[in-house]
Amino acid sequence: MYPTYGYAARGKETPLAPFEFHRRDLRENDVRIDVQFCGVCHSDLHAVRDEWHNTIYPVVPGHEIVGRVAEVGTGVTDFKVGQLVGVGCLVDSCRTCASCAEGLEQYCENGFVLTYNGNDRVSGDITYGGYSNQVVVDEAFVLRVPENLDPAGAAPLLCAGITTYSPLRTWGAGPGKKVGIVGLGGLGHMGVKLAHAMGAHVVLFTTSPSKIGDGKRLGADEVVISKDPEQMNAHANSFDLIVNTVAATHDLNPFLGLLRRDGTMVLVGAPEHDHPSPQVFNLIFKRRRLAGSLIGGIAETQEMLDFCGQHGITSDIEMIKMQDINTAYERMLKSDVKYRFVIDIDTLREAAR
Ligand code: NAP
Ligand code: ZN
Ligand code: ZN
Repeated sequence: MYPTYGYAARGKETPLAPFEFHRRDLRENDVRIDVQFCGVCHSDLHAVRDEWHNTIYPVVPGHEIVGRVAEVGTGVTDFKVGQLVGVGCLVDSCRTCASCAEGLEQYCENGFVLTYNGNDRVSGDITYGGYSNQVVVDEAFVLRVPENLDPAGAAPLLCAGITTYSPLRTWGAGPGKKVGIVGLGGLGHMGVKLAHAMGAHVVLFTTSPSKIGDGKRLGADEVVISKDPEQMNAHANSFDLIVNTVAATHDLNPFLGLLRRDGTMVLVGAPEHDHPSPQVFNLIFKRRRLAGSLIGGIAETQEMLDFCGQHGITSDIEMIKMQDINTAYERMLKSDVKYRFVIDIDTLREAAR
């Protein structure tokens, strides 16, 4: 067992605080990773505050993990000590169902294992995430991070990157397609960068007028203030695809009305409370579709990382110390992040000394 330092929440109203625990001894196919950086996803905040009503405490969040391989099990063939690697939201799945066979582990029919707040399939132990100095993960769920990317900026690709990349690919974002991204937060800013790199015409929808300049710098061809009906109406019936990343309950109708015939809006934002049901006629008259999408499988996550390596894409980050995580959560709730907090895990090592 490996003594490990992390930060955990002990209850839904308790701030994150230092927590010591053990990582398992290496199984044959396990990789032990020294964590260097961990992104802060809004899902971490939902989980810490039990907004999805399934949190097991203590919870050590973190599923945007980048670090270097420290040790490998006897059966590991794909990874070497010192290699730059990443771990996202999943650390295991059944590997036998139809979805797993298709490389869609995020839709595993027998239940995947989340990087934190999951149950290890062998021991049943609760999984602990990347707000910690090391992780032990089966090599089948470890990703190669291109060495040309800044490792801190690459960390958010493991969730924010793949969660927007997957629907953009599934619904064919590319040249000749008009793609909307709703919300310029962690997911949204990756969506803008990725859709732009795929060659689509990208429109950012934001509630924050202060983000217009950044939206364009990040790759949006146009920026629309979503609270302004006039600006919204100017885009009626014109979108092939809208990826909605908003982390709060809101009215979907103004966005559905922007889809062209057969256009799709994909929900990836996962707020505590459901959105009000959209108007039926708004959907049926133009055969519009409302869809959802969950992160991405391991093969697609690797494809996304390689795509980012080729295009030099990383997240725009604000580096924080582990000790500042509770303040970071408060700022995230105010949409005051440009555009992803990333924890420098060295600061955790310092705190533990
Ligand atoms: P984030 O950084 O907090 O960004 C969310 C953005 O939504 C904000 O920056 C803001 O953008 C907009 N927003 C927030 N409150 C709003 C409100 N009341 N009305 C309208 N817009 C609002 O969060 P994130 O990390 O990107 O995560 C976004 C959501 O996706 C979370 O619910 C998270 O749990 C979920 N998620 C889902 C998956 C999946 O697999 N489906 C994976 C990861 C995360 P503007 O200021 O531009 O309006
Ligand atoms: Zn996430
Ligand atoms: Zn499966």
